[in-house]
Amino acid sequence: MSNSNQFDAIVIGSGIGGLTVAALLSKLNKKKVLILEQHFVIGGFTHEFKRIHKFKWDVGLHYVGNMEKGEIGRAVFDYITDGKLQWHKMPESFEKFVYPDFTFEEFADPQKYKADLIQRFPKEKQAIERYFFELKTIAITANLPTFLNPLLKLIFPSLGKIHRQTTKEYFDQNFLDVKLKALLASQWGTYGLPPSKSSFATHAMVIYSFLTGGWYPVGGASEIAKHIMPVIERNGGKALTKSQVTEIIIDKGIAKGVKVQKFHVSQAPVEEYYAPIIISDAGAFNTYTKLIPENDLIADYREEIKSFPKGSSAITLYLGFKESPEKLGFRGENHWIYTSYEHDKAFQEQKAKPDQVINSCYLSFASLKDPTATAHTAQAIIFVDYDFFSQWHKQSWKKREETYYDLKEKITQNILNFVESRYPGFKELIEYKELSTPVTLEYFNQSDRGAIYGIPAIPERLGKKWSNPKTPIKNLYLTGTDVMSLGIMGAMMGGVKTVGILKGSFGFFNIMSKCIQESSKAEKTADVVDCDSEALLQSADRIISESSNRELTHR
Ligand SMILES: Cc1cc2nc3c(=O)[nH]c(=O)nc-3n(C[C@H](O)[C@H](O)[C@H](O)COP(=O)(O)OP(=O)(O)OC[C@H]3O[C@@H](n4cnc5c(N)ncnc54)[C@H](O)[C@@H]3O)c2cc1C
Repeated sequence: MSNSNQFDAIVIGSGIGGLTVAALLSKLNKKKVLILEQHFVIGGFTHEFKRIHKFKWDVGLHYVGNMEKGEIGRAVFDYITDGKLQWHKMPESFEKFVYPDFTFEEFADPQKYKADLIQRFPKEKQAIERYFFELKTIAITANLPTFLNPLLKLIFPSLGKIHRQTTKEYFDQNFLDVKLKALLASQWGTYGLPPSKSSFATHAMVIYSFLTGGWYPVGGASEIAKHIMPVIERNGGKALTKSQVTEIIIDKGIAKGVKVQKFHVSQAPVEEYYAPIIISDAGAFNTYTKLIPENDLIADYREEIKSFPKGSSAITLYLGFKESPEKLGFRGENHWIYTSYEHDKAFQEQKAKPDQVINSCYLSFASLKDPTATAHTAQAIIFVDYDFFSQWHKQSWKKREETYYDLKEKITQNILNFVESRYPGFKELIEYKELSTPVTLEYFNQSDRGAIYGIPAIPERLGKKWSNPKTPIKNLYLTGTDVMSLGIMGAMMGGVKTVGILKGSFGFFNIMSKCIQESSKAEKTADVVDCDSEALLQSADRIISESSNRELTHR
């Protein structure tokens, strides 16, 4: 074995989860980390692509929450990028929920958002207040170590029940007005499942993270990997692209290395790399069903994960504009456009027949969120069934049958007509358009059935053994979205969780403390000085004591 094939740790996949692990191991433990990425660019869903030398788009980042200076997400991002990545805050009114008879704006201020909801639905004041409190409780307690669970159950007995509820169950139990229920579920696309399917706990974590607004990386999503790589390279680490891990080498139940082949080249020679720690960011499904060879230790994990429901997939319409969409009044906020209050029904109808039914759409204007953008762009996203496209999944990108491209053109026109019906003049702005489908995502990202958020965020996912960073194979760990929560923030915190486990007891808290301390040092402003290394534990303390009071008054 040559020295060039030996590393301190190997990370499979360069998504934000994998990059976070590699950066933390490099920065905290001086580890030399090898990242192996099957795509020809690094970043996973944070990568970007360009067309006609003019337009560029991110694939899986439209906004990130929890990024106000002093917030935990920001502290971790600053730590792994040496504070060099800049973030642009979206407009104060950063969400527009567009329904047939009204449009509701969410402002980047939880108190205002709450007050606006109460003003519109005064009869539901108490339930709205409880909802905001429960969002916070769930979001903060989610990061507490599991040994605190008995204590949490004692002081907040309903927490366990809430964790097992769907979003719809929670809403039906707490709210009366159908419009309010629909409104509060307007951002369901941020976790990929409508109310009757999604876990309320995931809803709470994701929605809570956006209460202070949305942020976008200055320069685009690919700036994330660009700013993390120097931290990894500082200790001799590197990332290899077009390097698909085909197998994790396991000897007597211990992971020792990986076998690698060039991207989509079946005849390419197999290379081997070795390390005492192997971490997979390739998704729990891929890792257990494709990368770990037949092994009794994981047989039941494999069977369970194979039969677990699949994550949602989506279509993205990438648009390049001739002129600024500000012409039509857009300012960089998100638009969630719906034709009814029944999210579940609409989801079912549209995902099965996107060539016939477009009844909802998420619209994002990346160029208006990025002060350095040189050309104007937008993305329109709709959720669809993978099965609608599965017949083309074995065909290569750009070499699929004509029927596939005809279908894409039809869906493109349907989406454009849908948006045009809401915002007349929209189609006039377009210079370039390109549609990606679930098979595009599957081809480029290897995600199971083109899932955009990994394993689906349904209540049954809670506590599954295969969604844990630790695996039954010694020295093999998982990271990314499947071990924590979904989205950029969830996957990054998945990276912290994995390294936390590698570092032993209180590893997660020690890393968080370190990030918060560094962030406080860097930011000498009064706001941030407030946020000392104890911030996380203090907010946990606060939430626990508030919980016990509320439990008594509301339940
Ligand atoms: C269309 C879309 C829109 C989204 N919008 C947002 C948003 O606005 N905000 C937000 O927070 N989140 C959003 N997300 C979700 C977010 O992008 C993901 O949850 C997050 O990036 C997942 O990070 P990860 O590290 O877990 O995995 P990924 O980013 O999926 O990375 C996994 C990596 O592993 C690589 N890989 C897989 N198998 C192998 C192998 N065998 N060998 C080598 N490499 C391998 C893949 O190529 C990939 O690079 C969106 C996702 C999509 C698709």
